[in-house]
Amino acid sequence: MLHIFASMETHRLRNLLHPDLLRERLGSEGKARTTLSFYRYVRLAEVEALRHELYAEWEALGVLGRIYISQEGINAQVSLPTVNLEAFRNNLDAREAFKDVPWKIAVEDDGKSFLKLMIKVRKKIVADGLADDAFDVTDVGEHLDAGRFNRKMAEGALVIDMRNNYECLIGHFEGAYLPKADTFRGAIDEVKDVITLRQAQGEELPEILLYCTGGIRCEKASAYLKHHGFGKVNQLHGGIIDYARQIKAQGLESRYKGQNFVFDERLAERITDDVVSSCMQCGAASDRISNCKEATCNMLLVQCEACAAKYADCCSPSCREIHLLPIEEQRDWRKGRSTRSSKTKAINDPEGLRERIRVEEELLARNGTLHPELIKVNQTKTNNA
Ligand SMILES: [Zn+2]
Ligand SMILES: [Zn+2]
Repeated sequence: MLHIFASMETHRLRNLLHPDLLRERLGSEGKARTTLSFYRYVRLAEVEALRHELYAEWEALGVLGRIYISQEGINAQVSLPTVNLEAFRNNLDAREAFKDVPWKIAVEDDGKSFLKLMIKVRKKIVADGLADDAFDVTDVGEHLDAGRFNRKMAEGALVIDMRNNYECLIGHFEGAYLPKADTFRGAIDEVKDVITLRQAQGEELPEILLYCTGGIRCEKASAYLKHHGFGKVNQLHGGIIDYARQIKAQGLESRYKGQNFVFDERLAERITDDVVSSCMQCGAASDRISNCKEATCNMLLVQCEACAAKYADCCSPSCREIHLLPIEEQRDWRKGRSTRSSKTKAINDPEGLRERIRVEEELLARNGTLHPELIKVNQTKTNNA
């Protein structure tokens, strides 16, 4: 009996409502919300029990967002009613492990960044694919504030973007090295290769400046690069999120140009008005980022307004054809096809995409469809009728 009760309790500590309902509920809430993020590498015990405690306490404060906890710490991106900020601060400070943990408040924010509260227990708070016992994770690079980061850039330091490839698409520091890999592990190997190559060519290794979204990935990356003897390694304290805040507060020039990719419904927050990217479909200057609306595709792409209209918010004519079908026919077509992917994937070959679109438009004009399997299904239906 006790066992059943316990599992019911745990079950209640989840949000099972449909996204549309959640969106509506959030819209009608009428409270100003603040979006913020924080993380800390800290030893946590009894992580499962802690997870349930946090869920109950934070839900009561109206907290929404995505939180990962593990034995090595916490990584949280949340939004909450602005009136509850102080109560939330007190709640964090009440636990030794989270006491005084610095948080970063998002600059541009409509408070609609998260729809539900999700707290997940993970092996690591950032999936980095690195063997932690191979190096000292606490021997990190020097933390720089925005002003010092700008100065080192001006002195010719090597700036490296530690985010995944798709996060760099619509904004980055001027002249930064942007890894092509779509995983942290891949990016760090790439960076190692780039630096090693420069050293092999006899170049004197400049100081290294690392940056990422909120600073957390640079903790590991800097420790890793230091361990491998890559000289003076620095990192942007608090990441792009806090850089943007400092720039604004101190009236400094932003050497980060464009938008900052964020992991919530907004997809991006604007740092400067510069447009550093172009539409992957037509090549026009654009930094409008979105997902292909065809559910089995969902690829992330940079797409201008005109192309969004032309391709019905899809990446290609073949996705558009499915997306424009009546909803029941879309469902039929999706049967047996996988729609859910937890991993973000972006189109990384815009030229290839444009070629694909050209070929598909030709086929479409000739055959009237890019999905012959649809005709078969419809014919069967007609025959059966
Ligand atoms: Zn376009
Ligand atoms: Zn698509």
